[in-house]
Amino acid sequence: MSLKRVLVVGGGSAGWITAAYMDAALNSKDHKPVEVSLIESEIVGRIGVGEATVPTIRHVLQTIGISESDFMKATDATFKQSIRFDNWLDGRGETYYHPFERRQTARIDRTGVNWMASDRSRPFAELVSTQPHFCEAGLSPRMPKSPDYASPLPYAYHMDAEKFADHLCDIAKARGVKHYVDDVTDIKRAENGNIESVSTKGGLTLEADLFVDCTGFASILIGKTLGAEFDDFSQHLLCDSAVAMRVPYETYYPGQIKPYTTSTAVSNGWIWDIGLMNRRGTGYVYSSAFLDKDKAEAELRAFEGDHTKDLDARHLRFRVGRRPQQWVKNCVSIGLSSGFIEPLESTGIYLSEYAVVTLCEHFPYGSDMQPLADRFNQIMTGRYDEILDFINMHYCMTRRTDTEFWREVQKDERITDNLKAKFEFWKLKPPSHSDFEDQLRLFSHQSYEYILYGMDFQRDRFGGGQRPVAKHLPGVTRIVEAGKTRLPRHEDWLEHELGTKLGRYRTAELAE
Ligand SMILES: Cc1cc2nc3c(=O)[nH]c(=O)nc-3n(C[C@H](O)[C@H](O)[C@H](O)COP(=O)(O)OP(=O)(O)OC[C@H]3O[C@@H](n4cnc5c(N)ncnc54)[C@H](O)[C@@H]3O)c2cc1C
Repeated sequence: MSLKRVLVVGGGSAGWITAAYMDAALNSKDHKPVEVSLIESEIVGRIGVGEATVPTIRHVLQTIGISESDFMKATDATFKQSIRFDNWLDGRGETYYHPFERRQTARIDRTGVNWMASDRSRPFAELVSTQPHFCEAGLSPRMPKSPDYASPLPYAYHMDAEKFADHLCDIAKARGVKHYVDDVTDIKRAENGNIESVSTKGGLTLEADLFVDCTGFASILIGKTLGAEFDDFSQHLLCDSAVAMRVPYETYYPGQIKPYTTSTAVSNGWIWDIGLMNRRGTGYVYSSAFLDKDKAEAELRAFEGDHTKDLDARHLRFRVGRRPQQWVKNCVSIGLSSGFIEPLESTGIYLSEYAVVTLCEHFPYGSDMQPLADRFNQIMTGRYDEILDFINMHYCMTRRTDTEFWREVQKDERITDNLKAKFEFWKLKPPSHSDFEDQLRLFSHQSYEYILYGMDFQRDRFGGGQRPVAKHLPGVTRIVEAGKTRLPRHEDWLEHELGTKLGRYRTAELAE
């Protein structure tokens, strides 16, 4: 087996996840059949957002061999157990959770049907998952003094995206990944169309057998050089802009660090709220067709409060969609260069993780790459498409009519065909495991249930629900009671297990 040279171009989250994971998964300390290098620009910055993750991130960190506490300290990370959606249904203060955990007693679980036929006075998620209870109580998913990554509950993190890339960079470099800081200015192609080398402003020429384009929205290899097509999803996802802010706890401490992401639907999109160890990240994802950037920023500041008046805001534009060919010739795109679906369910970093895991599984040790590329492309487009349907569902089930934006997102032509077919089918039976053939998917029928029932699915059909309130699944009440006495508060875990200094914010808050 010959040594394969891989050059990752771009050093954002996608680039460093790719370099660190490939090196860890394909090489060992004594045997390194794959030489991994990464080049990133000093001038073109990282996108700097992407702070909420899903539980699969733990597999990536563990494979790379990262200590969880080192990672959490280096990236100001906190725990995430769920997303809480506020005001998505009617815009009148209603709330539902999409937690990571779901108790299920048997393959045929009638909790959803019973809930639909009930008076719906208890949220579905609270009946089948312990995590909404733990989120409300502000508890950590991890016990004190437990080993890295061990928990009775599934969890992910909120983290600083810039620091995450820096931390992965330090680890990958220490393991032998070569690092260049320079701007790629030219890309040379071989006669067969492959990329042969990249040249830089500083005068370097770097050759490789496989190139990974992690240059973000610029996509200088897969897009600009190889001309890979882009399928636009804006028919189904109207948001194309964001304005983001960092709110340090010195400026405002909200009294706790929530162990969940909050997504609040507002006039023309939604606002995220993510608590890190030293600050919160907040941002407004909106549609520029319905709101201009100044009004979006003003709305975000008004939503957040007076304490934002001296804080900077960053404006971002994005294009939703994905490339049907994410591996072309000897170039694979990972991260924003391959596509983007708006961040409502924190799927950006997941898609980079999934791509690099799949690339390692399909690594081209020989020269015949095409069958591997074909399968990779099929798998990755499948991931993007399933996420498109899932995110689309959040919008099209709304009953909000307060603005043109909300009236537009629920129109029939905005709903994907897959989702329409599912809605039709779910008139005949409730959602279940066997409704989805694709076993590689991120969002199972359980995630669908959380959103569907959170959005009051089929209320008309059940006539508003006449039966008495639905009951918790057996076990949920018992585990919630036990958890409430045994799980530490989220801030306490961060302070005691990581030795962080949250106390000063908490004391200041109490003194007010
Ligand atoms: C508003 C918003 C919110 C988001 N929130 C989330 C979230 O909560 N959770 C989540 O999982 N994802 C989220 N994402 C997605 C997430 O930000 C990205 O998936 C992730 O940061 C990966 O970005 P990237 O590395 O592909 O690109 P970037 O961070 O843009 O990195 C591009 C890299 O390419 C380099 N580069 C560019 N041109 C050149 C050149 N000519 N030569 C050399 N190097 C070059 C740059 O220097 C940089 O290092 C969000 C995205 C947006 C837009």
